[in-house]
Amino acid sequence: MKTILVILGFICVLGLVISRSQRKEDDPLKNHKFAVVKTEAEWRKILTPEQYKVTRQRSTELACSGAYWKNHEKGIYKCVCCKLPLFDSKTKFESGTGWPSFYKAIHKDAILEVPDDSFGMSRTEILCSRCGAHLGHVFDDGPRPTGLRYCLNSVALDFEKDAK
Ligand SMILES: [Zn+2]
Repeated sequence: MKTILVILGFICVLGLVISRSQRKEDDPLKNHKFAVVKTEAEWRKILTPEQYKVTRQRSTELACSGAYWKNHEKGIYKCVCCKLPLFDSKTKFESGTGWPSFYKAIHKDAILEVPDDSFGMSRTEILCSRCGAHLGHVFDDGPRPTGLRYCLNSVALDFEKDAK
């Protein structure tokens, strides 16, 4: 009986080690080259203190405080740092969280997803794939058709209204 328990324990530990090492190999930042790279000083020069804090220092704006959570205009949301188009207003929905929420990115390559275990939570951080700006997080409790909820900081975005 004791031997079986020891073997079971060993298998559990082995499984844990394998899953952890696989996760490291899957680290999307490891092989990603950002097309836009600037020093901290350069980012500080072109961003407001609030934009810098959120996008370059991974902070989160207060819920219901941003410019876009209630924005219902048609247009494109771009990265505030490098202007890469990230989300279309067609995929924006009312999440009730106080942050602008989308169920789909404009293009799958626009967003980089990175595991984030900070604050004792297991979440998926989303970054701009061109400049590495922290944008927010993605959760799997969104509406159809994707079931995803991209939860964004308004301050990380630049809205370009559709020209009519
Ligand atoms: Zn960017």
